[in-house]
Amino acid sequence: MSAEKYKLGVGNKTMATKEVETVVSKVVEKDMTTALKSNSTSTLLCSMLVWPGIIALPLVLTYNDNYKNVFNRAWYDESVNEYIDTKANGIKPLGLTLGLLAVVVGQIFMLFYFIIKKYLTVNIDIQKTGAREYNLMEGVRTHLAQPEGFIMLGGYLIGTWMAGLMPTSYYSFQGGINVKHVIMQLLLQDFIQYIMHRLEHVGKGLIYEVTHKPHHHFTNPRIFDAFNGSIADTFCMILIPLFITKEIVHCNVWSYMAFGSLYANWLTLIHAEFTHPWDRYFRYIGFGTAGDHHVHHKLFKYNFGHLFMYWDILFQTYKSPTKVSVFNNEYI
Ligand SMILES: [Zn+2]
Ligand SMILES: [Zn+2]
Repeated sequence: MSAEKYKLGVGNKTMATKEVETVVSKVVEKDMTTALKSNSTSTLLCSMLVWPGIIALPLVLTYNDNYKNVFNRAWYDESVNEYIDTKANGIKPLGLTLGLLAVVVGQIFMLFYFIIKKYLTVNIDIQKTGAREYNLMEGVRTHLAQPEGFIMLGGYLIGTWMAGLMPTSYYSFQGGINVKHVIMQLLLQDFIQYIMHRLEHVGKGLIYEVTHKPHHHFTNPRIFDAFNGSIADTFCMILIPLFITKEIVHCNVWSYMAFGSLYANWLTLIHAEFTHPWDRYFRYIGFGTAGDHHVHHKLFKYNFGHLFMYWDILFQTYKSPTKVSVFNNEYI
């Protein structure tokens, strides 16, 4: 009798515990929704600043042709013809220097946004297991010191510019940022990157092991893992597409600068451990989000595109992060 009573007691206790857990989880969920709502204004403001910030340098310098007041006329070629005429005296490094600086300025804005978002607002980790804990300074150091990332990219940009390997239009300062050229570069770069990415994954053989496997060490990436991979991976997935893209889209120095900074920073942002305020809107128009890229890192066989999901939709390799059960899919 007492044993039966005890059993019943345990049963009641379990039932009560379950009820409490349900109530607690409902309260947490409600709190989370309220926090996210009250959070949305500040994060939206923050995100509205980060994208123009990424292209701040070319925007400021081309506004009212400001660059003409800032730089000595002898330091740059205003037109393609001027570049061709003066090339024999040496290629001018100003465009290249500004291009590298544009990415640095973009990265500073991006990092500011990320730190405010991570430490001052409520965030939802993309994966249910949660993001791994890390020290911010270690993250920043790891991010900036990647030989596969900025050092290799910088080397490519300096080499191609100073050796005169870029099409002549790239050396011209004439005209501002051409939006059509920037969009074409982003789309083409991402499309070639999609093809290279899929080729690296084919068969999971030696090519995959040497090139791309190190980047897939991260099944639940954080933002600072974006350029953490291998030299061969950066060569195949970033440098080859860049080399082809420049041969097809002939733009001026400002459009190249805007494209470069958008590309480098967008690649970084899609590796974030939490969702961004613009992700829902991006998903509607097929732009790549952190959730989309987490699907690739977690499941390997979907979402080979980075900036856009169009190629994945076209070649039937797209999977929405909202359909992945191990993700916090109702919030992303
Ligand atoms: Zn990645
Ligand atoms: Zn991959």
